[in-house]
Amino acid sequence: MQFLDRATEVLCADGKPRLLHAYAAIEPHLRNALLFVMDCDGDTPAEYKGQVDLVLTTNRDAEADILLMLDPATRAGVELFGPTRSTADEAIDRMNEVVDRAAVVAAIVGSMLKAARGRGLKVQRGSGPTARAIELLDFLKPEMVEELSSVDSVGELVGRIQSVLAWGIDEAAAVEGDVLLDLGRECRRHRRVNCEGCLIQRSANGHHFVQAIAAMHSSETRGQYQVANVAMVLRTAATYSPLRSWPTLKRIQRWEEMSGYQVLRR
Ligand SMILES: [Zn+2]
Repeated sequence: MQFLDRATEVLCADGKPRLLHAYAAIEPHLRNALLFVMDCDGDTPAEYKGQVDLVLTTNRDAEADILLMLDPATRAGVELFGPTRSTADEAIDRMNEVVDRAAVVAAIVGSMLKAARGRGLKVQRGSGPTARAIELLDFLKPEMVEELSSVDSVGELVGRIQSVLAWGIDEAAAVEGDVLLDLGRECRRHRRVNCEGCLIQRSANGHHFVQAIAAMHSSETRGQYQVANVAMVLRTAATYSPLRSWPTLKRIQRWEEMSGYQVLRR
């Protein structure tokens, strides 16, 4: 929000299906003052890629973009870890460490859920109208998150989610195998196996990312687990300086040039 021109109006589509429906339903010549921005998580149909007026986030979603590209750690670090560290620098170092670890947890959880979905396994809690997406703290205690924030913890993480979602032993083993394959595969961009950066980009969603940060924060401060609060601190702490190299922003600027409209603050 802090990056937008004051005259810009933001409409929340409330989900990808509605956004894509609106995009398809409005004829191109009527869309010229409309810019669509959408999360780039897995299931984007190919025909929507490469459109100037439909900008996809660089990482899986806008929240992950903020965490990975807009360097909120400097300002958020002092706010979140200042009280438990003796200097601002220590608080910022700790914040950077927490962000790195949270990214790994979020990437493993994302990969795990993708594998489970691919195998038709249950990935939600509850059933019927009360079903909801599984949250990190449904299968982990806050104090466990940091301990399990490494690629060596895949087995343990699968085991924990398995018991909450009641997967069978064979199903869990298959999911674990899928995740290890996903982790170990060669990335297209760097042609490297076990490329942590690419794994995070393709699998970490912002929601799990923030949940993991909030978990590490609450266990360090012995405070309550407050994901909404932490999310807000991170969002408002995103800094302007790395903005220029943020690919999502460049895509928005390209649309501004083509359409003649301005949505970003100058
Ligand atoms: Zn890579």
